[in-house]
Amino acid sequence: MTTDLHHFINGAKIVGTSGRTLGVFNPNTGEVTAKTPLASADEVRAGIASAAGAFPGWAATNPQRRARVMFEFKRLLEDNMDELAEMLSSEHGKVIADSKGDIQRGLEVIEFACGIPHLQKGEFTEGAGPDIDMYSMRQPLGVCAGITPFNFPAMIPMWMFGVAIACGNTFVCKPSEKDPSVPLRLAELFMEAGAPAGVLNVVNGDKEAVDTLLTDPQVEAISFVGSSMIAEYIYATGAAHGKRVQAMGGAKNHAIIMPDADLDRVVDDLIGAGYGSAGERCMALSVAVPVGKETGDRLIEKLIPRVESLKVGLSTDVDADYGPMVTAEQRDKVAGWIDRGVEQGADLLVDGRGFELQGYEDGFFIGGSLFDNVTPDMDIWKEEIFGPVLSVVRAETFEEAAELPSAHQYGNGVAIFTRDGDAARSFASKVNVGMVGINVPIPVPLAYHSFGGWKRSAFGDTNQHGTEGVKFYTKVKTVTSRWPTGLKEGSSFVIPTMK
Ligand code: NAD
Repeated sequence: MTTDLHHFINGAKIVGTSGRTLGVFNPNTGEVTAKTPLASADEVRAGIASAAGAFPGWAATNPQRRARVMFEFKRLLEDNMDELAEMLSSEHGKVIADSKGDIQRGLEVIEFACGIPHLQKGEFTEGAGPDIDMYSMRQPLGVCAGITPFNFPAMIPMWMFGVAIACGNTFVCKPSEKDPSVPLRLAELFMEAGAPAGVLNVVNGDKEAVDTLLTDPQVEAISFVGSSMIAEYIYATGAAHGKRVQAMGGAKNHAIIMPDADLDRVVDDLIGAGYGSAGERCMALSVAVPVGKETGDRLIEKLIPRVESLKVGLSTDVDADYGPMVTAEQRDKVAGWIDRGVEQGADLLVDGRGFELQGYEDGFFIGGSLFDNVTPDMDIWKEEIFGPVLSVVRAETFEEAAELPSAHQYGNGVAIFTRDGDAARSFASKVNVGMVGINVPIPVPLAYHSFGGWKRSAFGDTNQHGTEGVKFYTKVKTVTSRWPTGLKEGSSFVIPTMK
């Protein structure tokens, strides 16, 4: 039986009327369990109109009252954690504990959003001139829209709407068509937390919906997370239509392994960060760069048995290391990258292609793969694979290793494993990548810091959440005021200065 999913507009579930739908799979079984309605431009405009209608009232609601909705929403997320995690796993395929991590990371942004009144206070200078005070305020933009990827269906919508709405904006979220049930449920819980109808809307759809958001004059800002080709298109199109845009893209995250590193710990970290969530994370470690032949040989020797013994299982299996991929298409794409690596001469030491889970042969499973002797001229180094595949690129020296992530087209995350403080400090300072881990495999900044990569991993110049997020979702107005007004100076035809 398949469920017909809906949109969530102006506080109500709205049945799609475009006649276009897309199947949502249970990746464990390969069965279609639901249908995502793909909105027409008119249906998207209804979502935008709902947000525009709610904006004046929400922007005028005092910041503390807005924050109270966030406090209540956080409580509801905690109360509904199990239900949300099951829903998430059943459409995405990540294991339940990892789904809880996805929700928890979003919840932490909501916790940050509870304190946003503090960041919106603005600045004040008394006596900036004779009887003159000067102050600035951060005002909300209006209707903001978020377009989100399949791989974090809870965290990434909350990165966006949590900060935008706490700042006084109203929001239209266009989730991934592959797993939209959690974002729809979040919108219901947000209303239950006390948000007025129209403050958060969810419109499901594909390119037609996205293009409507990108071009509608009522949308002031667009936040996007997804693949780089689409991110670049979103940035260019949104900016051409006068919108503020932040668009996060793909990644290729390197781990530099110095000869002095504790290799057992490194292997634990590489296995977790490379294969967790079937590698479908933009911060997955997908390239390991051991420095020196001996480090490389020891690393490979330890990695092989660990990759071979990865437990691939149902998303509901508490003992599974990771579950199925989101769709058969995604799994086949990953298998295609492995084929390409072999064709171009990399050594495939562990081959996850063709893995089947007994009893679930139609599920979208793939085993873990490990490549050695990958070189920078190979496509599997140049491009994002987004699957459970770790590529080892060997380097002779620290300098050679450090150059690899800096030279790559993507610059999302990177990690260095070492006991050498000098090397770590200099690496963190010089590497041309946005988020750096020192003996930390997945350096995802906490909610009160900001998330964002460099180069083709992010278009636009403001990161997600933290103070950067508040800057993105607010505009600064500066007021210069003179009290009392009695002083008579006559007209001045010269620009006012403080000379
Ligand atoms: P995707 O680019 O296919 O889809 C992202 C969103 O864009 C979806 O909502 C989708 O409906 C929409 N979209 C797809 N094609 C479109 C088109 N032609 N025109 C307009 N909109 C379109 O990405 P995905 O497969 O859902 O997610 C995986 C990608 O996201 C990976 O590349 C991953 O690295 C990246 N990602 C990046 C970050 C980050 O913060 N940098 C975080 C998570 C995921």
